[in-house]
Amino acid sequence: MKSLALRLLAAALCLVLLSSQALADASHFALLGKDLGPCRRLTGSAYAILVFVSTPAHPWTQKQKEAVYDISWSSLDYIRANAKKYRTDLDITYGCLDFSINTEYSRDLAWYWEIIHDEFHAQSIQQVYDYYKQSLQVDEAPILFLFNSWDLSCTYMCKADYPGWNEEFCVIFCDTQMHDHYLTHELYHLYGAIDLYDYSGEGVARIAHKYFGNCDMSCTSADVDDLTAYLIGWTDSLSASAQGFLRETKGLR
Ligand SMILES: [Zn+2]
Repeated sequence: MKSLALRLLAAALCLVLLSSQALADASHFALLGKDLGPCRRLTGSAYAILVFVSTPAHPWTQKQKEAVYDISWSSLDYIRANAKKYRTDLDITYGCLDFSINTEYSRDLAWYWEIIHDEFHAQSIQQVYDYYKQSLQVDEAPILFLFNSWDLSCTYMCKADYPGWNEEFCVIFCDTQMHDHYLTHELYHLYGAIDLYDYSGEGVARIAHKYFGNCDMSCTSADVDDLTAYLIGWTDSLSASAQGFLRETKGLR
């Protein structure tokens, strides 16, 4: 009788393991960036490196940079408060670098390689991360490029469905209107978070709102949602809300 009970318990445990594996189905579009690339878990000691990129047409002025410093401090306050909510040990600060390059921003990334090769004297961004992690004695050294011009801020994420890409960085366009959320949103992307708004009416935004309410990845508040917390390494399990979201959004993107 005892051994039957034990066998039943073992069978139940197997079912639990199988079902949580199914829910964390790595082929779901929301999970394609988890634990890939140089930035995997936003935990421990972190030093965000803000790289002010001056181009011939769009140089940074001291006054403009000072406005970004202030916004960056309040962005880090949001991140600290959210990490605390998830009982995550995160000690995050930032520092700045100034580079003047000969190339304007473009999506062919000529500007990026100019910075990696000529300014950082590196072959890949992994070398840059490793250098800063070692020299600053920190667990994480995420790198964010800031342009004093206007385009859509974006993160070049490492994703399982794009295996040839190993570079991983954010680009934030500040112009004169940089918002607190630009930095937090792109930083979370860097660690694997996904957008929770619609790209073209696919329905992700409605389902995200149903499970998470307003949140940073849907650009509606500064709050971190449960799925993002899981993707960026603040929790190791999917909450019921995150599981519901994954179930309802499978195949939507
Ligand atoms: Zn985004």
